[in-house]
Amino acid sequence: MLGTSISAIHNGVSAEIVKVEADIAPGFPKFSIVGLPDSAITEAKLRIRSAFHNSQLPFPKGRITINLTPAHVRKRGSGLDLAMAVAILRAQGTLAEGSQNEAYLGELELSGALSSVESIVSLILRLAQDGVRRIHCPAGQMLPSSLSKEIDMYPHVSLNGVIEMLKRGTPPACQAVWSGPQAARDDGSAAIPLDAIAGRTMEKRLLSISAAGNHPLFLIGPPGIGKTTLAANLVHLLPDLDDAAALESYAWHEQAHGDHTTYTLRPPCRTPHHTLTPAGLVGGGVPPRPGEVTLAHHGVLLLDELFEFSRPTLNALREPMSQHTVHIARAGRVASLPARFLLCATANPCPCGLRGYGECRCLDSDVRRYWGRLSGPVLDRIDIVFYMNHDTATHTAAADGEWSEQRLQSRVATARDVLRDASKEGTTPTQRMDAEASRRIAMLRRRVVASDRAEQQLTAVAATIAALDGRDVVRARDIEESLQFRRAAT
Ligand SMILES: [Zn+2]
Repeated sequence: MLGTSISAIHNGVSAEIVKVEADIAPGFPKFSIVGLPDSAITEAKLRIRSAFHNSQLPFPKGRITINLTPAHVRKRGSGLDLAMAVAILRAQGTLAEGSQNEAYLGELELSGALSSVESIVSLILRLAQDGVRRIHCPAGQMLPSSLSKEIDMYPHVSLNGVIEMLKRGTPPACQAVWSGPQAARDDGSAAIPLDAIAGRTMEKRLLSISAAGNHPLFLIGPPGIGKTTLAANLVHLLPDLDDAAALESYAWHEQAHGDHTTYTLRPPCRTPHHTLTPAGLVGGGVPPRPGEVTLAHHGVLLLDELFEFSRPTLNALREPMSQHTVHIARAGRVASLPARFLLCATANPCPCGLRGYGECRCLDSDVRRYWGRLSGPVLDRIDIVFYMNHDTATHTAAADGEWSEQRLQSRVATARDVLRDASKEGTTPTQRMDAEASRRIAMLRRRVVASDRAEQQLTAVAATIAALDGRDVVRARDIEESLQFRRAAT
């Protein structure tokens, strides 16, 4: 007789659905698993046999063959134990055949107890994507609370518990351990909150423009001017993620950091050290891991002291910045990982850090070489480049004033709504310009704005500035403000 069940495994950085088939045929007792199993899966034979025995379940006599499909994917780890046991119980006639929208994840101990599966959330999300709505999993595994809106999770202590539920509909003895959204992940963002920074209204304005329109931002200034502190606050101006985005972000972080990942609706902020390798940035390695650009998906990638990063690492930024995705080739297959992040970079203006701010001791050739580390295509995709000024403001920051974090957050949220509605209607920033703004752009064309890309960036930033004002119509003064950030770049 034949029995089946559904499960999922990790295949490199992605997750794959696995269909388990068990066949029991008369003959000399033999237990084989086919479909590219690794040694952990082959050892499942011993675990499953003992688990049956210690759960007082008769182990089928005869020839047992388990087939894992798709056959071409190598199956790793021990997370398929439960699914294989269920398929055998079905082949044996102990359990009735189940539905296709129910799946099983868990490793069996010899006692028949279920133990947890590594990085289970990415497996659950992959199953959900395929239409699975009920998942049986080991009890005690911490799960992000938003999952409960999508899927019915059934945590079990043992194999017998699973059988009880499948046979009689007895609900599991324990509840799933839900972790509610935490305030934020400890990701190295802002040690000093925005409200504690006095003055700096220009930079705060830039942070809101960047956050509202997802415009990559580059802050340049001498050491000690406060670039890093401001940059680290960018993520705080982004609105909360929706459940789907927060779960996706959680799954990537879980793959990189294991079960200690915090579940949060706050967007991630990644601040990698400048010793970061290209593989560390885009992902890969053995075993393969998601890179910083994927961990920053839906959030901010903060590259502090940009020119300290190696040239190959900076060049590797090109693909994710232009395509919002990265491709990792491994064992003849290409995995594509999401990388829709907001880049925020900081740098000194020259090797000594004082060019334009004090007595620079660098040769012109040194400065050119310094800037040459950043390839044109990457620099071209940074919408806002800004040279910070020494702030002469004497006033202290007012937490409840026009420039408070709370006020900026709410303006950013409104602006994002305006921009979302405009993009739903399918209008481009150029189409939303009034007559005067169009005239201004026509004047700037060729003279100040040399390329189509530069013009697009200028109008996109202007549209965001308008949206921060609650308008979808782009006016000439929005173009003027946007122009300042381009002039600063030249
Ligand atoms: Zn210098």
